[in-house]
Amino acid sequence: MNDVIIIGGGVAGLSAALYASRARLKTLMLERGVPGGQLATTEEVENYPGFLHITGPELMAKMEEQAKHFGTEIMMGVEITSMDLTGDIKKIVTPDGVHEGRTVILAMGAEYRPLGVPGEDRLRAKGVSYCATCDAAFFRDRKVAVIGGGSTAVEEGTFLTKFASDVTLIHRRDKLRAEKILQERAFANPKMGFMWDTVVESIEGDKSVESITLRNINTGETHTEAVDGVFIFVGMDPNTALVKGQVTMDDGNYILTDDWMATNLKGVYAAGDVRKTVLRQAVTSASDGAIAAVAAEKYLETLHG
Ligand code: NAP
Repeated sequence: MNDVIIIGGGVAGLSAALYASRARLKTLMLERGVPGGQLATTEEVENYPGFLHITGPELMAKMEEQAKHFGTEIMMGVEITSMDLTGDIKKIVTPDGVHEGRTVILAMGAEYRPLGVPGEDRLRAKGVSYCATCDAAFFRDRKVAVIGGGSTAVEEGTFLTKFASDVTLIHRRDKLRAEKILQERAFANPKMGFMWDTVVESIEGDKSVESITLRNINTGETHTEAVDGVFIFVGMDPNTALVKGQVTMDDGNYILTDDWMATNLKGVYAAGDVRKTVLRQAVTSASDGAIAAVAAEKYLETLHG
């Protein structure tokens, strides 16, 4: 029997693990792949306090080491098939057996949202990508399009200029939503171009991406651009399908919590990108994880009298 089961090994999960294991709670982390979450594929992090420059994988390796040092057990490659979170004993079902815990911290994070245009699915991994850190090297001296206007699109687009000869950021409005410092860098980058008020209609190619068809939303005009790659960064969707129907969510499937990260279910907490919140950053996920773990500790104390 575990005191705390943490689902997901990104920043929120690892921070919760650190606080729970330092509170001497028997803490089990279940991770679908390997720990690291979104930061595992983030080239450079410069807004995590204390580190002027650190790569995402380096930062996450430190967090994992720290959580393990204080006693967290981490199980990797665990594909959860269902969860029963309603009773006093929470049951996490996997193909290899059922894990039981008195509390659960949901920290499954979020995933890149597809654009939903013809050709996207068929050409996925054949020129359509959702991760510049993973795939940029395949586009050395090639021409690529980046779709989206948020921090991810601008940051990943800037990273792509290290490899690609030409990076065009295509945004549906005439203003970026990205953090200002990221915008300044992108505007100053000679390899970076911008196409405003434009949406993607379709992605074409036989064996791999060859072109994209674009539509100007003001004029309605469409045209086709030759590109070798399309990097899509149009936001995230939370990984909350497994707890739908048990845990209360908003319309976007983000989990609703109170100030203590408590969900509608006793002993069940949510932290990081799965949660409805005002800011989704590594530092806020770390904060959520710490609060959730302390909340779990307080709840467990009430059980023991
Ligand atoms: P985001 O901030 O939600 O931005 C999504 C972008 O995609 C927006 O520009 C949006 O356009 C556009 N978009 C959405 N749906 C679209 C569609 N169907 N067709 C075309 N464009 C579409 O998502 P994000 O950039 O992935 O960032 C997620 C979170 O992580 C944010 O909170 C962000 O601040 C954070 N983040 C921070 C950093 C950093 O601090 N360095 C780096 C990466 C991410 P509109 O602008 O018109 O809505």
